[in-house]
Amino acid sequence: MTTRVTPDSYYGPSFGALLEQDPQVAELLVSELDRQRAGIQLIASENQTSPAVLAALGSTLSNKYAEGYPDARYYGGCSEVDKVEKLAIERAKELFGADHANVQAHSGASANQAVYGAFASPGDTILAMSLDHGGHLTHGFKVSFSGKWFDAVHYGVAADTEHIDYDQVEALAKEHRPKIILAGGSAIPRLIDFARFRAIADEVGAIFWVDAAHFIGLVAGQAIPSPVPHADVVSFTTHKVLRGPRGGAIVCREEHAKKIDRAVFPMMQGGPLMHGVAAKAVNFAECMTPDYQDYAQRVLTNASALAGALDERGIRPVTGGTDTHLSLHDLRGVGVTGVDAEARCDAAGIVLNKNAIPFDPEKPNVASGIRVGSPSVTTQGMGPEQMSVVADLIHRAVTETDGSPDHPVARQIREAAGELLTAYPAYPEPTAG
Ligand SMILES: *Cc1c(COP(=O)(O)O)cnc(C)c1O
Repeated sequence: MTTRVTPDSYYGPSFGALLEQDPQVAELLVSELDRQRAGIQLIASENQTSPAVLAALGSTLSNKYAEGYPDARYYGGCSEVDKVEKLAIERAKELFGADHANVQAHSGASANQAVYGAFASPGDTILAMSLDHGGHLTHGFKVSFSGKWFDAVHYGVAADTEHIDYDQVEALAKEHRPKIILAGGSAIPRLIDFARFRAIADEVGAIFWVDAAHFIGLVAGQAIPSPVPHADVVSFTTHKVLRGPRGGAIVCREEHAKKIDRAVFPMMQGGPLMHGVAAKAVNFAECMTPDYQDYAQRVLTNASALAGALDERGIRPVTGGTDTHLSLHDLRGVGVTGVDAEARCDAAGIVLNKNAIPFDPEKPNVASGIRVGSPSVTTQGMGPEQMSVVADLIHRAVTETDGSPDHPVARQIREAAGELLTAYPAYPEPTAG
């Protein structure tokens, strides 16, 4: 053993062995943990998963081939992983009140690929939210498989309200008769009217699919209404607000269960990542606790506090606010582009991303907006008072600095951020005893 002390317990007892065998990689694990601890993390799609989830991810389940499903595998030796996957499936069904769950998708994009595989063939028409109004690459964007293999028609938000234009959804559905109508996206700050989507899908005989990747954690925590009673199928990621391991999952109505399972395996994937499946099981159980439900409520409170505090400082939230864990902000009021705001915040110790706003006059790699989310800072225990401090730091970084880490105001902001992070650390050092 080297004499270097593991900086914390988050990488488990095998970390010492890794440090000895491969210090290059081990040091990077430590420096990434340091990075996660050092900034104010406002990326809406990220979170800080629990040590229990990290332990499952770092387990020998990674060694096991388990192509197939519990009690119907293409490999021997699956007795234990069968139990793990059954637990994950049962917990997902209970958590979401779903008929059926598939927990094998490697990621959100893989889950989405499987949903397409289950319900559509190349050349079919799908109707989804456009990327530049808040959708996702996998919703028929032209550089994605979904845009290459399907005929994607896109709806957006109304220019006056910036809310989803349901009349447009209905008109496009009637005109194009899509196989699938897809709701959900990566930059939608408001609740989605699932009942309205369901009615439109029924009117044209389409499958109604909700990609709940972003907000499923709020559903799990019973903080917002669930799409599950309305949709034929709901796909999601397990690593965003939900706070589990990086991965994907699908829940659906019983009538679609076989189709979904066959589409995940063998149509789209080979062997499942059983360490990830175990970590999903751990996460689903965490999500059924009062602690997690309280967390989900605080995520909402913090997101609206942050959106409101930025609004007071002239950084307008698209739609005027948020009902979820994220808000999208129009920077034109302060005369800064998204790309500059992201760089200035980064140099000041605040991690967020530039984002196109609806009807954005700038190119996507410049953008007129930023997206901020409360999942990580809420995990760290921050509340609305801290959100007001964070909004002030963002405003100062965006309007008073130039993107250089040496700018005196950037230094001041990093110092203030450091104070906040000392009081509300990510992955706090376990207290002795
Ligand atoms: C994050 C996200 C995905 C993709 O998830 P990955 O795990 O990155 O593949 C899909 N759909 C939506 C709406 C997302 O927000």
